Amino acid sequence: MNSLVENQRKFFLTNATKSVAFRKSQLKKLKQVILENEAALHKAIYDDFKKSEFECYATEIGLVLKDITDTLSHVDDWAKTKRVQTNLINFPASSYVVPEPLGVTLVIGAWNYPYLLSLAPAIAAMAAGNTVVIKPSELPANTSRIIAKIINQNFDANYLTVVEGAVNETTQLLEQKWDKIFFTGSTKVGKIVAAAAAKNLTPVTLELGGKSPAFVTESCHLKMTVKRLVWSKFLNAGQTCIAPDYLLVHESIHQKFIELAKAEIEKAKYSTENNNYTQIIDERNTQRLVAMLDMKKVVVGGHYDLATRHIEPTILSGVAWTDAIMQQEIFGPIWPILSYSNLQEAIEKVKQLPKPLSCYVYTNNRSEKKKILDELSFGGGCINDSIMHISNSHLPFGGVGDSGMGTYHGEAGFKAFSHYKSILDKPTWFELNIKYPAYSSFKLKVLKHFIKLG
Ligand code: NAD
Repeated sequence: MNSLVENQRKFFLTNATKSVAFRKSQLKKLKQVILENEAALHKAIYDDFKKSEFECYATEIGLVLKDITDTLSHVDDWAKTKRVQTNLINFPASSYVVPEPLGVTLVIGAWNYPYLLSLAPAIAAMAAGNTVVIKPSELPANTSRIIAKIINQNFDANYLTVVEGAVNETTQLLEQKWDKIFFTGSTKVGKIVAAAAAKNLTPVTLELGGKSPAFVTESCHLKMTVKRLVWSKFLNAGQTCIAPDYLLVHESIHQKFIELAKAEIEKAKYSTENNNYTQIIDERNTQRLVAMLDMKKVVVGGHYDLATRHIEPTILSGVAWTDAIMQQEIFGPIWPILSYSNLQEAIEKVKQLPKPLSCYVYTNNRSEKKKILDELSFGGGCINDSIMHISNSHLPFGGVGDSGMGTYHGEAGFKAFSHYKSILDKPTWFELNIKYPAYSSFKLKVLKHFIKLG
């Protein structure tokens, strides 16, 4: 690990990664490598947890390719020196901000969207002119292997490389001195990463998780609400960091919501055979989820098979804040509904919990929407939709508080891997001498005047 990082640092210090032409050529190469290996990438993820080609393309490969295309068309602009105003006291001068790469960077990925979560931060790092070491999640072993294979066979390890491994290898990586660490994963491990980074004052972006609520108010378009919510919850069998973890449904529409959701789930015919459902990632997580199933509260689904790591789309009704399922991020296809009678009281409850990664508000009432947006702190979200905010690269994506720090996607990703050097550039033909001794009451008067003018 030591020599790997040292060699990347040596390469970075040659300035080779700094030219935008180099960055673009490497991004084009990455795109080509992905396209050439698309079939193998699809097969690996199917072997790991039966994610279908459609879902893999829609939620991973397609987004990665789009990300590279968008980055290629904007990176010239993002990398440009930007002029800013100069204040009067510095006249005559020009002022500008120069984006520069941070240096040698580490990207640690999570397992649930293994391609997207390892490659999208790496694309941002490359666009900003850094070298990159990627450590994909070890849980989907085939996807980790194929990411390592296609990157390590096609790129110079001094510039871009993949290190496979679990806790031991990641711990060794975290002992190195990095210029930036970008981590996607749990809040628990996020704290380990932040503590390791603090030893070298390495900046971090932490993309973490949490319990994201969905408010379903009396005034919503119920049919559309159910359709959008059911899709977003059971995509990837609920193993999505921004999935609507639990529902807060107004009591007057609670029963109707359950009926419509049941019908929507039946209509979708979720199964791995129908290519619209995945397995739970491993046995440990299947058992963790089954332990949260309170059979007395199941109103839809509830069947599971430990051997095939399958859990039916399941809805629990009559759930209380104190129930086991409300004590941790679910990260699976089990959906608790809490009904409320007073929106303010529901908001107050959510306020007491750690700040979530997302929040969804299904309403056609402006004041309800405003109230929730004004009062709750969360990473990002949607009004009358779920998950889809992640697909708009103009929206910086990230958490707040326990759900993370920093953002990426689009220019936000470029910024996450850049330092902005601020420069005041002065000619030598003129000097306003008031800052030099000897100080006088006249100079103070002039200074006050300049400060007033701005
Ligand atoms: P995780 O924290 O267990 O693992 C993430 C990465 O950290 C893996 O690469 C793993 O090898 C490594 N790791 C695990 N334990 C470690 C340790 N003790 N020391 C050092 N490294 C360690 O998370 P996960 O199970 O892969 O992912 C699930 C979590 O990630 C959920 O909380 C989910 O909400 C969150 N997540 C967040 C986002 C986001 O964009 N904010 C996206 C996906 C998942």
